[in-house]
Amino acid sequence: MVSVPDRRPTKDTLIPIIKKYIRPGTTIYSDCWKAYDCLESDCLESHGYVHGKVNHSKQLVKAGIPQGSVLGPLLFLVYINNIVNEVNCGIKLFADDTLIYTIDYGSKNTTISLNQNLENINSWAKKWLIKFNPTKTNLMTISNLKNTRLNNNPIRLDGTVLENVTNHTHLGLVLNNKLSWTPHIDHILEGVGKLNDIFISLKRKLNRSTLNTMYFSFVRPKLEYACVVWDNCTEHDKERLENMQLNFARSVTGAKRGTSHQCIYDEVQWPKLSDRRQDYKKVFMFKLVNDLAPPYLCDILPQVFKDSVDYDLRNRDDFRYLDAKTEKHKNSLFPSIVKMWNELSKEVKKVNTVNEFRRKAVTRADLNHLYFGFVRQLNIAHAQMRMQCSNLNYHLFNLHVVESPSCRCSYKCEDVNHYLLQCPLYAIERHKLLSVVRKICEPNFKLLLYGCDKLCYEKNRIIFKCVETFILETNRLL
Ligand SMILES: [Zn+2]
Repeated sequence: MVSVPDRRPTKDTLIPIIKKYIRPGTTIYSDCWKAYDCLESDCLESHGYVHGKVNHSKQLVKAGIPQGSVLGPLLFLVYINNIVNEVNCGIKLFADDTLIYTIDYGSKNTTISLNQNLENINSWAKKWLIKFNPTKTNLMTISNLKNTRLNNNPIRLDGTVLENVTNHTHLGLVLNNKLSWTPHIDHILEGVGKLNDIFISLKRKLNRSTLNTMYFSFVRPKLEYACVVWDNCTEHDKERLENMQLNFARSVTGAKRGTSHQCIYDEVQWPKLSDRRQDYKKVFMFKLVNDLAPPYLCDILPQVFKDSVDYDLRNRDDFRYLDAKTEKHKNSLFPSIVKMWNELSKEVKKVNTVNEFRRKAVTRADLNHLYFGFVRQLNIAHAQMRMQCSNLNYHLFNLHVVESPSCRCSYKCEDVNHYLLQCPLYAIERHKLLSVVRKICEPNFKLLLYGCDKLCYEKNRIIFKCVETFILETNRLL
């Protein structure tokens, strides 16, 4: 903010100040007051600015902040920040999400206090011309008790009795009155399920690299949003999430129904979601320990042993375990990360930066780009052989789709080795394949399926290209 000395500034006062503080090319808005007449007649334009004007009699923002500007969120925070002075209970603000809370020790005062605080907030809102919508405001009573006192006493905002809900979405997290994360997992899976339908319809139209990128960019973030907080969800909920990831892995790899989960994971090379959540939690703890997170989070950490006793201890740098009376609490964020941290090696814990910590403590899975293949249909057939679940009779027999694993050439087992290296039906196509591969390396079916670590990427790609051509020309798997 810059103050201008004159009450009636002229062009000569304003232009130097504008030029000093504002980059040319910027759009400047002024109102139509007399004071700014000096800026009329293309004056600002001639200095390289774009000049827009707001006529307050027509376009006045009476209260609040116009949406869509860069400064908007900051100005909004400034605008509402003093709301915290109006309440004497807990309050959390995030942008326009406001939450007040209190702990009920079983006295009538809880209801009285909440109602009084809501009354204060309502008066504040009226004074500052903000409207809190009572129909969008909910009350939630978090308790293990079946019936709570609060249920029977109405809590009011602006005369409207607030609905006592069992679930409430706050900042994208579905909070539940029994602290169950199942409603939140339901919410995630519902959203991601729609994307799964899209992936299924696209799985033969887009190549694997694109599908993989789409999964990492649009799907996995939804499966992991705020996951450090809800990682104490039930095993059943964790399994539902993992199964959803597997659905996407099937679309990306082209795996058939019936392919073993381990084979799909080996093929797609994505870490399990549960492993990634553990990694997120480790990094989160690293940030807390090193004061890289906001103080209100760092302050929750318990003391380390050496700060609370005088004598020397082997585990003197460990954090004291948080007292957790229930299993649910023990598995929740802070007790679980303290335990996880104490179990990390000293060498990992002492690193200086988050990136270094990630390198040492987080499981990294590098994608094998060879598996992305060339032509989608052929890439799928190749991948299905790697996943031991293709259209070869041996694989179909294992799925109980055909009665015999034998090959059309009458050999007893049409497996990958037979198809790629032995079956007399494909001798001509095989001759072409092997004549190229032999120039690089002695062929075997593993080389043709997985490539070889000892060969460079380009040579492996030549081999994969030849195998795809073989799949196309033999027309056995398509
Ligand atoms: Zn055969």
